Amino acid sequence: MAKISILSDQVANQIAAGEVIERPASIVKELVENSLDAGATSIEVEFKKGGTSFIRIEDNGCGMSKEDALLSLERHATSKIQSADDLNTLTSMGFRGEALPSIASVSKLQLQTREASSESGTDILVNGGSLVHDRDCGMPPGTRMTISQLFNSVPARRKFLKSVATESAHIVHHTRLYALAHPEVSFTLIDDGRTLFRTPSCARLKDRVMEIFGKQIAGKLIEVDAAEKGMRLSGLIGAPGHSRSSRHEMLIFVNNRPVESRTLGYALIESYYGHIPKGRYPVAFLFLELPPSQVDVNVHPAKREIRFRNESNVRGFAVRAILGALKESVTIVTPPVLSKPVVASAPLFETVQAKATGPTPPRASVLSSEPVKRESPVVEKPESLEAEKKEAAIVPVPTQRVETASEQVSSSASIERDWRFIGWAQSDFALFDTDSGIVMLDWKAAQKRVWYERLLASYRNRSVESQKLLLPVPVELDPVSAVVLTDNAEFLEGYGLEAAPFGRNFFRIEAVPSWLPESEAESYLGELVDLLRKGGISDKKGSSAQELLAKHAANRVVVGAVAPSETELVELLDQLFQTSNPLADPDGKPAYIEIARSELNRRFHKS
Ligand code: ADP
Ligand code: MG
Repeated sequence: MAKISILSDQVANQIAAGEVIERPASIVKELVENSLDAGATSIEVEFKKGGTSFIRIEDNGCGMSKEDALLSLERHATSKIQSADDLNTLTSMGFRGEALPSIASVSKLQLQTREASSESGTDILVNGGSLVHDRDCGMPPGTRMTISQLFNSVPARRKFLKSVATESAHIVHHTRLYALAHPEVSFTLIDDGRTLFRTPSCARLKDRVMEIFGKQIAGKLIEVDAAEKGMRLSGLIGAPGHSRSSRHEMLIFVNNRPVESRTLGYALIESYYGHIPKGRYPVAFLFLELPPSQVDVNVHPAKREIRFRNESNVRGFAVRAILGALKESVTIVTPPVLSKPVVASAPLFETVQAKATGPTPPRASVLSSEPVKRESPVVEKPESLEAEKKEAAIVPVPTQRVETASEQVSSSASIERDWRFIGWAQSDFALFDTDSGIVMLDWKAAQKRVWYERLLASYRNRSVESQKLLLPVPVELDPVSAVVLTDNAEFLEGYGLEAAPFGRNFFRIEAVPSWLPESEAESYLGELVDLLRKGGISDKKGSSAQELLAKHAANRVVVGAVAPSETELVELLDQLFQTSNPLADPDGKPAYIEIARSELNRRFHKS
């Protein structure tokens, strides 16, 4: 007896479905692609319970005749290619003719469709791969696919489904991707009767992003548009300081197809180094266009992953384009114009020092309790900011007003920005009322940025200032640290710290950087020796050592600093906006956040 038999179509379809239909979101993906291929200008996606109980995709595309509709459910039935040669000139999303039969084999599928030229539509019902009925129906031109009882014929597959929330998230993600790639098509997404978004067909990517991801994101985006050797990278990326805890909002399209590309993902993350905190991810809606011959899309069954012929070319180009956009975004930031506060003439916020002598000065602010952070003994604030302003080699920025990344409301270029100090919140944040909303400034982050650039500049042009200690501070180190210090004494001297050996493992600190309080000489030396031992800094590391030391010092200065008075705050802002990146501290954390009036309106449900 023969052992081999040909699989029935139904079984073959179910096997194919295993590859194409991983989860409800794959159905959404395939059907939306079909709608796009059908030339739809409006697509509605509705689902319930993460797509497991119900999915409906409806479009106003070309529709199908009854004959074609029946054929479309057969394996390898496609209108998109006729021969293998057609693959080279493919412009459609689909071409394998596998999606519909696969979906039909593992669910209850209702296909309703009508061509504009036809009087009536066709209604076909298939359950687990078997035809239940086909009949005429009335409907507007286009196609409506309704899927229920997903995986009814393959119960084992149901077990692999994740929670409703997870499956829903995948559907939302996929629909967003297509909506982003096709701003000319109007998309509606409905989850359990709730409309998640409804986008008009519009031309601008930024509008679409706002419709899909909420209005508040738009002000935090900057534009990228660069071209090189037949490649073009365009889209929107997060302004420096704006980051996410996951890569879910790093969306990349290659030739308008949403893809996962390690190359571009890495390029993005690398480019944001220093602009966002470690372990966080940038936001990006990036579109790479390049000749189809330069990319291989057919490496993944769901066409998700791609490869580039010349990975390093693409990577280099992407990094240059992103860095360029980031750089531009920070140099066009306009310094805010601070107006005199409208409130009392007494400073709102005294510099509160835990001086052992004398009582804490009274404060006119409405803060009810003493901020905890400032109760610990604090170090004298560094010299008057005014004095240092003159020494600091700070990059000048153009003063004319240009639309900045961090604002989203007032695009009327003539309005001069006005930051009016309102008061302090949660002890760390200075609040400002502006013409376009509210700004919250993390004064410590701002000060870190200012100090970082000031110190870095002094390291670079070798103008580090140090102060000789009247009474050298003796320190004893463990033997390894002692060797490290001896080997690097000259290097540290370049950064204002002088330590001379006197006896085995003993040193005398003779000078410290001017910004450092004498009382911290020993702990600072200890930290630098640690950095040296861990290999973070050394005289061979050049600029990266300088950056690390400047970062370390800026953090140190700020830890002990006292909240600025109002006048100092004005100066701090002046200085912040002269730095190369006023939006973020040296670790990439935001220095200030702006909440637009429109966002406030939205939250308060005001029209
Ligand atoms: P493919 O997209 O790879 O051709 P599918 O199984 O997804 O294969 O679809 C089979 C065929 O059914 C398509 O080639 C197309 O002709 C037709 N079709 C599917 N969905 C639609 C739709 N929404 N509107 C019009 N025609 C459609
Ligand atoms: Mg298809």
